[in-house]
Amino acid sequence: MAGQKPLLELENFIAGKFIPCNSHIDSYDPSTGEVYCKVPDSGKEEIEAAVMAAREAFPHWSSMSPQDRSQIMNKLADLLEQSLEDFAQAESKDQGKTITFARTVDIPRAVYNFRFFASSVLHHTTDATQMDSMDCMHYTVRSPVGIAGLISPWNLPLYLLTWKIAPAIAAGNTVIAKPSEMTSVTAWMLCKLLDEAGVPPGVVNIVFGTGPKVGEALVSHPEVPLISFTGSTLTAERIMMKSAPHCKKLSLELGGKNPAIIFDDANLRECIPTTVRSSFANQGEICLCTSRIFVQRSIYEEFLARFVEATRKWKVGPPSDATSSMGALISKTHLEKVRNYIKKAFVDGARILCGEGVDNLNLPPRNKGGYFMLPTVITDIKDESCCMKEEIFGPVACVVPFDTEEEVIERANNVKYGLAATVWSNNVGRVWRVSKRLQSGLVWSNCWLIRDLNLPFGGMKASGIGREGAKDSYDFFTEVSWIDKWRTSYLE
Ligand code: NAD
Repeated sequence: MAGQKPLLELENFIAGKFIPCNSHIDSYDPSTGEVYCKVPDSGKEEIEAAVMAAREAFPHWSSMSPQDRSQIMNKLADLLEQSLEDFAQAESKDQGKTITFARTVDIPRAVYNFRFFASSVLHHTTDATQMDSMDCMHYTVRSPVGIAGLISPWNLPLYLLTWKIAPAIAAGNTVIAKPSEMTSVTAWMLCKLLDEAGVPPGVVNIVFGTGPKVGEALVSHPEVPLISFTGSTLTAERIMMKSAPHCKKLSLELGGKNPAIIFDDANLRECIPTTVRSSFANQGEICLCTSRIFVQRSIYEEFLARFVEATRKWKVGPPSDATSSMGALISKTHLEKVRNYIKKAFVDGARILCGEGVDNLNLPPRNKGGYFMLPTVITDIKDESCCMKEEIFGPVACVVPFDTEEEVIERANNVKYGLAATVWSNNVGRVWRVSKRLQSGLVWSNCWLIRDLNLPFGGMKASGIGREGAKDSYDFFTEVSWIDKWRTSYLE
C-alpha cells in the first residue's frame, strides 16, 4: 500500500554477518495487535552454522587478555548508550512496556551489564592459590568453558540477553544467543554495533526463532557445554531433560510467586506506592514482581483501601506515551491467561476490588486494539486458590490478612517458588528474623528492586538453579582446574 512502511525483517547474525533465513514467524506490536516484524524461524541448520563460527572464534578470543576483552566491551557499552533512545523506542514497541521503563530501566541496564562485567572480570581472573604445602605447590586455574548457549525471555529482552552475553564473553567464551521469538528486535539491533566495537566475528552469534525448534537445537548440540537460561519453570524442565545426555552445565533463572509481608508497624506512606510499583511495574511482567501481599490484620482494612486507591491512579496507556504507568501485555494469549486467573479467583469466591471486570470502562478507547488490561487487586482469596499458588506474570495482586509472624512465614513459604520477597516493618529484629526464614533467593526490606550486580542473584526451589552476579557468573562461565606441582628437586 502506498505510504506504508515495509515490515522489518530480521536476519540471523552468524560469524559477524547477517544471514537471511528462508522462513519467518510474525512478531506483534502488543499495543496495536499488528505485526511489527518478521523473525527468522531458524532450526538445526542455523545452529550448526553458529557452532562452527563460535568454534573458530574461540581460540583467539579466549587467549586475548581480559583487559583487551574488557576494552572492547566498554566500547560496545558506549555505542549502545549513544543509541539509547532508538533502542528504547524499539523495546517499548516490541514488548508493550512503557517508553519510560525502556528508557530508564531496560536499555541503561543493558549498557551497564557490559560495563559491569568488563570491569568485574578483571578482578576474578586469578583464583585462590596455596603455595608450598606438603612440599608441593598447589594452584587453581580458571578457563572459559567454550561455546555458551544463552536463552532469554520476552519480558526484559535486551536487559536479560546482555546479562548473559556480557559475563560469558568477558570470561573468554564465545556465545550463541537465542532471544525470545516475541521480542527479538533489540538483539538484532545490537548485532549492528558489534563490529564497530571490535568484537571479532563469531564471538557473538545470535540465532532467532522459537523455543521448541531452534532453542532445543541449541540445548541439544553436543558442542555447547553450557546453557544459561532465563524463562519459565516448565521450559526449564524440558531444557534439563534435553541437556541431560550431555551433562551440560546449567544456570536456570525461573519464575516466582513473590510475597510482600507488611507488618502493622510499617511505614505505609512508603510501603503503599512501592508495593503498587512492585506489583504492576512493566505490567507485572517481571519475575520479581509482588503477587501475594500479606498484611497484618490490625492495618489490613486501611492498607487495602489505600492500596486500591493508589492502584486506580495507575494510568494504563499507549507504551509510547511518557505519562503511561503501564503499557500492554505481551500477547493476546498471555492476556487471556491472566484474565482467566482472575475469572477463576472470582468463581472461587474471591472479591475483585479494582481493575479487570470492575473498571474496564476506564480503559481509554484508543487502547482497545492492543493487549491492555487494568491493574487488578483481589482479596478474600484462599491460599489454596491457583491465583495464590501459580505464577500469573501479569498485573494482578492478591491481598490477604495475617495475624502472627510464625503464621505468615509458613504461608509465604507455602508455594513451589522461592525467588524474591519483601518485608515491611520498622522493627529491625523482626525484619532480620523473618527474612532469614523465608525460602527466597532474595529478600528486600522496606524497599523493592534495589540491585547491586555483585550480589548472587537467583531463586530457590522451582525458581531456579544457580546464582548469577559478579563472581557467581564468572564461576559459572568458567571451569576450574586444580593443579599440583611437586618440588622441582623431586623431578631432577
Ligand atoms: P519461556 O520459558 O516460555 O521462554 C523463555 C525462552 O525459552 C524463550 O526464548 C523461548 O523461545 C525459549 N524456549 C521455549 N521453549 C524452549 C525449549 N523447549 N527449548 C529451548 N528453549 C525454549 O518463558 P517466557 O514466557 O519467555 O518468560 C516468562 C518467564 O520467565 C516467567 O516464568 C518469568 O518468571 C521468567 N523469568 C525469570 C527471570 C529470573 O531471573 N528468574 C527473569 C525474567 C523472566
